[in-house]
Amino acid sequence: MRRSINWINFLALFFVSLAQGSKSPSDLGPLEKWCHEVGDSVSALKWTVSSCNGIQWQVGGTSVQGRPLVYAEFGNPKAQNSTLIFATVHGDEVTPLYLALELVYWLKEREKELVNTRVVVAPLVNPDGFLHKPRTRMNARGVDVNRNFTTGDWSKKALLAWRKRFKSDPRRFPGNEPSSEPETKFQEDLIRKIRPTKILSVHSPLNFLDYDGPSQLTLEKFPTDYAKSCEKLKKALNAISGGFFPGSLGNYAGRELGIPTVTLELPSADPKKAAVYWKKFSLGIHKMIQFSVPKYESGKWEGVDVSGGRSGG
Ligand SMILES: [Zn+2]
Repeated sequence: MRRSINWINFLALFFVSLAQGSKSPSDLGPLEKWCHEVGDSVSALKWTVSSCNGIQWQVGGTSVQGRPLVYAEFGNPKAQNSTLIFATVHGDEVTPLYLALELVYWLKEREKELVNTRVVVAPLVNPDGFLHKPRTRMNARGVDVNRNFTTGDWSKKALLAWRKRFKSDPRRFPGNEPSSEPETKFQEDLIRKIRPTKILSVHSPLNFLDYDGPSQLTLEKFPTDYAKSCEKLKKALNAISGGFFPGSLGNYAGRELGIPTVTLELPSADPKKAAVYWKKFSLGIHKMIQFSVPKYESGKWEGVDVSGGRSGG
């Protein structure tokens, strides 16, 4: 009798675990599904970094195709010094995703040391573009998310610049109106929520460092350690800004909101080089995270209105 009950328990457990192990994709929650999809892509790129192992992803929005727009937060939420990091805004630029995932694990391991700083990382701003076959720069509606920010010059200039300067290149389509895309809103919302003292956006493959923000700072003065440790990019030290595009993050956050915004353009989007780039640029990124943006007399940093007021420049 006893033996038969044990058998029933065993069989029940067996079938329960079997059922759990064979969850169909439709049974998974959005975040779980994201972990599977991104994990599979990461493995296919032959990267050893994990997409979800022990990371507490938070969801700040939903992509056009219904994927969660995730970020992870580290350090002290009350710290004066805060860094917001965006990567993979363009879905076909894969090396920034690797850097951002490695950074997330680096931060997780050092969480106790991050007493005086807050770091928020959104490693995959454009999951639909990244997971599309083939990968696309744009989001699922064909919009270049880095031309879709609500800048003051958007209505006047975004579509005009796209037609004239970019000859209606579909890879640079800014959308039909500013902040029309969930991936743009996700970034704008995070900027308002976190009110970072500085922003880092990682792209590829243009191989430069760019600074947008208040001119008191400039790339040369601001993250000197950061820029210096990005050896190959020393030449870019003198760069103040590579120019403003209507609807770009640098224009929106750096120029209009006055938040120092650095764009790191990695030298290539070759997945085989991703680990080398992490080695090369990680020290610089760590230094940038630790760097405390000085306060200015004008009170620009303190008084900047990130709740929706825009200069309209
Ligand atoms: Zn890019």
